Amino acid sequence: MPTGTLHIDLEAIAANWRALDRMSAQSCETAAVVKADAYGLGLTQVAPRLAQEGARAFFVATTDEGLELRRTLGPEPRIYILYGHMSGDTQMIKRADLVPMICSIEQLTRHLETLPRHPFGLQLDTGMNRLGLREAEWQVVADLALAAEPVLIASHLHSADEPDSPHNTAQLSAFRRMTEGVEAPRSLSATGGILLGPGFHFDMTRPGVGLYGGLPYAKAEPVVALDLPVITCFDIEAGESVGYGASWTARAPSRIATVAGGYADGMHRALQPGMELMAGPVPCPAVGRVSMDLLTIDISHLDHDPDVLTLLDPHHTVDALAQVGGTIGYEVLTSLGARYARRYRGAAT
Ligand SMILES: *Cc1c(COP(=O)(O)O)cnc(C)c1O
Repeated sequence: MPTGTLHIDLEAIAANWRALDRMSAQSCETAAVVKADAYGLGLTQVAPRLAQEGARAFFVATTDEGLELRRTLGPEPRIYILYGHMSGDTQMIKRADLVPMICSIEQLTRHLETLPRHPFGLQLDTGMNRLGLREAEWQVVADLALAAEPVLIASHLHSADEPDSPHNTAQLSAFRRMTEGVEAPRSLSATGGILLGPGFHFDMTRPGVGLYGGLPYAKAEPVVALDLPVITCFDIEAGESVGYGASWTARAPSRIATVAGGYADGMHRALQPGMELMAGPVPCPAVGRVSMDLLTIDISHLDHDPDVLTLLDPHHTVDALAQVGGTIGYEVLTSLGARYARRYRGAAT
């Protein structure tokens, strides 16, 4: 038996892609970001469903992910590699027909020397200071790079989840300035940028988290649900503690349910105290520390011992859970781990 059952609604992912696609002009292509195993939800299930929906451009972080995606999707879709052209990846980029998103002068040189006619994109840094050619570097190499006809020029917003942040318009101006007059298609926006409006869309958008039901796309259809089986239930006396470090002590006689699933399944220790699981409509607090494979839940107020408890459902989202632990929905999703039984609804046909 697995630790729990992770329900993943591919219909909802497809609906979220369509909705995000509709927010931009017809002339703007909507790609799909499926890095980190499609944000933990399963690349080989998610990507074919999005391809069936009409997605023709996919982004992953690593060349290894790109290779797996190519095997999954076949020769047609364009697969962009956000790490760019890393040393050692040249043959794989060529064989799997991947498009490295070049992010430094060193990578540009490597690409033009080793795969001179192979398609590539460019990442420009407009203020995030993470990945991409900086403005001064770009001024030096722009002519050379543009002469090699990049298939995409992209940058990334660092504060798009805060619509009123002045950084958004500052990055927009920098991107405009750095790409003025270029013929290559341009892309600036991930999920947050799509919500900022058409001025941020250019020729391609790159939604990731919004596809998977996460903020900042508040109107997303919910995608994941997580049920954890109860292993055993028992009574303890007032004054007895539960779990490692005896961090929680019962004030009154209590009934405890021990549930399959722990920090190895993405329930970080930082989610305690504060995490709740649902017995149908009734919330039940997790008590004591999260173990590697187990959670302990106070079910004293229930009139029966449940068979399963639910951690995530349409009303208990990854973002709500993330807030308990001071993190973000992205991190909860990508931490879900490999031990769950995964049940997919709406697989590609
Ligand atoms: C991860 C990533 C995206 C997708 O971002 P979301 O916020 O998940 O939509 C888009 N572009 C780049 C460069 C990224 O690293």
